[in-house]
Amino acid sequence: MPGHVFGRSTKGTLPVAARGDGCYIIDSAGKRYLDGSGGAAVSCLGHSDAGVRAALHEQLDALAFAHTGFFTSEAAESLADRLVEHAPEGIGRVYLVSGGSEGVEAAIKLARQYFMEIGQPRRHRVIARRQSYHGNTLGALAAGGNEWRRAQFAPLLVETSHIAPCYEYRDRLEGETPEAYGRRAADELDAEIRRLGPETVMAFIAEPVVGATAGAVPAVPGYLRRIREICDRHGVLLILDEVMCGMGRTGHLFACEEDGVAPDMITIAKGLGAGYQPIGALLTSGKIYDAIAAGSGFFQHGHTYMGHPMAAAAAGAVLDAILGRSLLARVRAQGEKLDAALRAELGQHPHVGDIRGRGLFRGIELVEDRDSKAPFDPARKLHAKIKAMAFEAGLICYPMGGTIDGQRGDHILLAPPFIIEDAQIDELVGKLSGAIKGALAA
Ligand code: PMP
Repeated sequence: MPGHVFGRSTKGTLPVAARGDGCYIIDSAGKRYLDGSGGAAVSCLGHSDAGVRAALHEQLDALAFAHTGFFTSEAAESLADRLVEHAPEGIGRVYLVSGGSEGVEAAIKLARQYFMEIGQPRRHRVIARRQSYHGNTLGALAAGGNEWRRAQFAPLLVETSHIAPCYEYRDRLEGETPEAYGRRAADELDAEIRRLGPETVMAFIAEPVVGATAGAVPAVPGYLRRIREICDRHGVLLILDEVMCGMGRTGHLFACEEDGVAPDMITIAKGLGAGYQPIGALLTSGKIYDAIAAGSGFFQHGHTYMGHPMAAAAAGAVLDAILGRSLLARVRAQGEKLDAALRAELGQHPHVGDIRGRGLFRGIELVEDRDSKAPFDPARKLHAKIKAMAFEAGLICYPMGGTIDGQRGDHILLAPPFIIEDAQIDELVGKLSGAIKGALAA
């Protein structure tokens, strides 16, 4: 089973990653791979950041672990304080976990407990979008709309309903303005809440820029603000899943800043530890925290490794780098260059339907026919061929063949480290273009 470490079975099927050097991973045979996707939008500082390494050494020399049932730590406290300081309005507390799924799981449980504590126990339903991935644990999988991941576990999953995504490339009608389309797409949430009964709905969850299921699909301007209004109208909590698109990936520390929206909860993970440590976080509004503090006084949740000092120390150093080295501005500038280079190389290609994204979070959607936007036959496994050919050429990118509203499409996600240089952007685009053309010809 390539792609999963099951001990002995993996060796021989995958190269052995041996060293990191800036934007490159070097395998045990000495081959260099340009990390064009940060793994899966993880390695935002590349693979040899001196500041994070120093912070980890320092924390390890002082203390590796202390259980949060007994202690807090300076690393965890200062990370939480600084995340709150830079978070959107209303966010007042941070719950540190070990990854994205754990963050989403905690968000769903916190929403449920909140409504129990404020005397609205009928609110238990979650609404999400068909184009979404929120994690692989059962609660997070229940929220996500990714059909092929859900299918075999369906009977085990919590009841969730899914509305249409905000997917301008395919769903905006001819002659419809982006704003009008955004209102129409958001109003599906209003209709769904009314259909279910507002008194039974606890939360709506969405990725501001959709990652794994669709390849960096941002919402149109105004969509998320309308979603916020609809949630407020019905007393439903808004959870934004920024596990992939948060922590500077779009050129803003939180992607929702650009949409001008203040959610009730935000989940972050990948770029938070930047791959140096496994860590995730649930950021929540003071309102939710205060209600539970004034009620039972205890969030009925927890994991052994939550608030881990080593993970928090790494994340603190990542935040130092992002803010102290002006990396947000760099992400915006390099993101524009990457977008321009992709358009110059692939914009006119007959099988490139859409190039999209924000900051250093870019997606390319491939189609059989540009006019009808018909996707390729999934049996061709185009995305898998592109991944293999790019990897052979020494480029890590993240192609997928996702199910989008029942329609399969091949797309490629790019999320290189924030430190990517101009010459490396050229290398990335050149190798990717070669892989796409090679896979189409195969
Ligand atoms: N939410 C989103 C938006 C994600 O992209 C992912 C991971 N791809 C997750 C949640 C789950 O995170 P993890 O794999 O760290 O559990």
